[in-house]
Amino acid sequence: MQDKPGLEDAPMNNPVLDLLRAARFAADRHRDQRRKDEAASPYINHPLAAAETLARHGELQVVPLLGAILHDTIEDTDTTLDELRKAFGEAVAQVVAEVTDDRTLTKEVRKQKQVEKAPTLSRAAKLVKIADKICNITDVIHSPPRKWSTERRRDYLLWTSRVMDGCRGTNEALEATYDRILQSGLERLEESGLQRLENPNPDSDS
Ligand code: NDP
Ligand code: ZN
Repeated sequence: MQDKPGLEDAPMNNPVLDLLRAARFAADRHRDQRRKDEAASPYINHPLAAAETLARHGELQVVPLLGAILHDTIEDTDTTLDELRKAFGEAVAQVVAEVTDDRTLTKEVRKQKQVEKAPTLSRAAKLVKIADKICNITDVIHSPPRKWSTERRRDYLLWTSRVMDGCRGTNEALEATYDRILQSGLERLEESGLQRLENPNPDSDS
């Protein structure tokens, strides 16, 4: 990082510059990571998609947008809260902290905590959480992790809907997009499950 000037500069109060700086920071931190899909897509595609999802739904404030771009940096890289504070300010750092799971806990406990914590999140953190879930269910439906069964994909979608219940009342259009994607995804998985029952060929579950 030391040889990359600009990545750790303090906030400039220029939203476009801060957005680009956050994108470059997250790309750098996630540089060795891939999504779990068949294509092993670059990890940075996911936080960028989450931020784009917010912007498409009229959420153009810097704090949630930067929060979305940076949302997995503490959880999935060695980035610290203090670094985010220095580089992007307290408000952005707090949003990322709010949506960060405690990785010392088991996966089951973490998933339950997300459900319990959702209603207590700030508006900006709820926006990031909803955008994250929209992007993840889209991935689970269209480019799922390798080897996930239909049942596991459905379990995942249903768990996100429990987290979503605690985030509602934040942005109607964003929530409607989530509902539409969830519904069509569940229908799609139902169809592929039925097809598999009728034709038990593992290759048929595309
Ligand atoms: P994981 O938490 O292990 O994996 C999902 C997470 O991986 C996402 O939240 C996302 O997090 C990240 N991710 C990376 N790439 C992708 C991608 N292409 N598509 C979607 N997400 C991606 O999931 P779980 O272990 O929780 O499994 C989901 C459900 O399945 C759970 O409810 C669990 O109980 C159940 N389960 C079922 C099993 C079965 O065989 N039936 C076995 C194990 C669990 P991020 O945004 O942080 O990147
Ligand atoms: Zn995420």
